[in-house]
Amino acid sequence: MSDKMKTLDDLFEHQLQDLYSAEEQLIKALPEMAAKASNPKLKKAFESHLEETKEQKRLLEEVCKELDIKPSGEKCKAMEGLIQEAKSMMKEKASPEVMDAALIADAQRIEHYEISGYGTACTFAKQLDHSEAKKKLGKILEQEYSADEKLTKISETVNAKAEA
Ligand code: FE
Ligand code: FE
Ligand code: FE
Ligand code: ZN
Repeated sequence: MSDKMKTLDDLFEHQLQDLYSAEEQLIKALPEMAAKASNPKLKKAFESHLEETKEQKRLLEEVCKELDIKPSGEKCKAMEGLIQEAKSMMKEKASPEVMDAALIADAQRIEHYEISGYGTACTFAKQLDHSEAKKKLGKILEQEYSADEKLTKISETVNAKAEA
């Protein structure tokens, strides 16, 4: 818990640390999800989003450095829960096709959570005139949107196979 929460800057700092924790957790979880995926496009989507996620972690470190704050110190419990759900689902005895559909469902929950987090962070950065931070957070937000859209596209094939 932070010692002060008096201004929008304090809240912005808290939000950045929460996002940093979320990305750190996702860096550990995505390889497992990629390994569990059967559809080659889905596997590749997870692997390429893992690389993006590592870049996002670096971008958040840069943002924090510019603002003279520590990136660590928070635990994103929402991401912990979302990953926990994905992990218990991955233990189910599902056919490969249904497992792929389930992986997409869990991954899109994660992307949507990140989209809302970075959307808020961008809005705060704009209000606070942190223009360099706003640019970097906006770049991450775009990556999260495209990751989500890619999953929607892949789900069309995957869901049709799972139906059969
Ligand atoms: Fe991310
Ligand atoms: Fe969080
Ligand atoms: Fe749930
Ligand atoms: Zn993401």
